Amino acid sequence: MRGSRLVFRCSACGGLNRMPASRVSEGPKCGRCGEPLGVHGAPVELDDAGLARLVARSPVPVLVDFWAPWCGPCKAVAPHLVALGQRHAGRLIVAKVNTDEHQRTAAALKVQAIPTLVIYKGGQVVKRQAEALMGAQLEGFVAPLLD
Ligand SMILES: [Zn+2]
Repeated sequence: MRGSRLVFRCSACGGLNRMPASRVSEGPKCGRCGEPLGVHGAPVELDDAGLARLVARSPVPVLVDFWAPWCGPCKAVAPHLVALGQRHAGRLIVAKVNTDEHQRTAAALKVQAIPTLVIYKGGQVVKRQAEALMGAQLEGFVAPLLD
C-alpha cells in the first residue's frame, strides 16, 4: 500500500473525505457536513448523476455493480460486494446502480447483461466484466488496481 491516507464517501452529503489510517478508529465525521462518517466500505447506492460525480472526483478506484432487483445472480453477488468493500475500506469505493431505475450510465457503457461489474479509476473505465464474480475471483478482479 502506498501512503496511509484513506478515502471515505459520506453517505449523507456524498463528500469524499481523506484521512490517515490512524484516524479511522476515532469515529471520524464528514469534513463537509459534519455527519458521522461510515468507514466500513459499505456499498453505496447511486443514481447516474451521483455515480458521475463520484467517479470524476474519487482518488481511489470505484467498483460499480450494475444490477437489478429481479436478477438472481445479482443477489448472489451482493454479500461478496459488502465483504469486498469492508476488506478494502478506504482504498476502494463499492457502488451499486439499480439499472431498472437508472439506465443512462448502463446504456452509455452498452451494458448488455447484469450483473456487470465496472471499475473506474481516474474518472475512466479501466476494467469491466459481465459476470457474477464472487470470492477470490472478485478479489482478483479488483486487487491489481488497488494502491
Ligand atoms: Zn458529509
